[in-house]
Amino acid sequence: MSANSWANGLIKTLKDPSNHIISSNLAVVISDKYRKAKHHYLVLPLEEIPSIFNLNRKHLPLLEELHLLALNVIEVKSENVENFKIGFHNQPSMQRLHLHVISKDFISDCLKTKKHWNSFNTALFLDYKDLYRQLDETGEVKRLDSATLKTLTNTELKCNQCELVAKNMPTLKQHLLQHFNGDDL
Ligand code: AMP
Ligand code: ZN
Repeated sequence: MSANSWANGLIKTLKDPSNHIISSNLAVVISDKYRKAKHHYLVLPLEEIPSIFNLNRKHLPLLEELHLLALNVIEVKSENVENFKIGFHNQPSMQRLHLHVISKDFISDCLKTKKHWNSFNTALFLDYKDLYRQLDETGEVKRLDSATLKTLTNTELKCNQCELVAKNMPTLKQHLLQHFNGDDL
């Protein structure tokens, strides 16, 4: 295990079976410890794959398995797949490949910063299907260059459910709550 114990937090969580919501012989689903929405799960392979940048074409069947488990956890929670985003961060911070399964409400006290928001709501979030296609077509997942990462991280706060551009995170969070409550906007 690397010296960076913080980045290994997911691996620690993964090693305790009591944290497994669902598992197969290839992968497990855990809850995100700092969920950024009402529902936020992570699907991790048991194989020691550090990140999306270590994937090649031979991993395509494993990715299909991760996606299947993502769909399973949504079903187990009696939720509708249409209300979820399933994909990877283009700039992951934690070790071990992990597929995010997150509900589109984005109601959570842990959702605090512009970086949090934009990591799920700009091209910093790579939809499962897009990553799968990229891997299938090119045999690898390309890193975004640092200028693009910076631009995406600093993108204005656009609502994911209407045309609103919020001036700051508290305003956006208040607005998201109104969507969630079904208020007229
Ligand atoms: P990423 O930016 O894709 O690397 O996302 C890492 C995710 O792991 C974040 O959504 C964190 O909230 C979550 N996380 C961090 N530490 C843990 C942990 N020990 N157990 C479960 N989830 C964690
Ligand atoms: Zn809105």
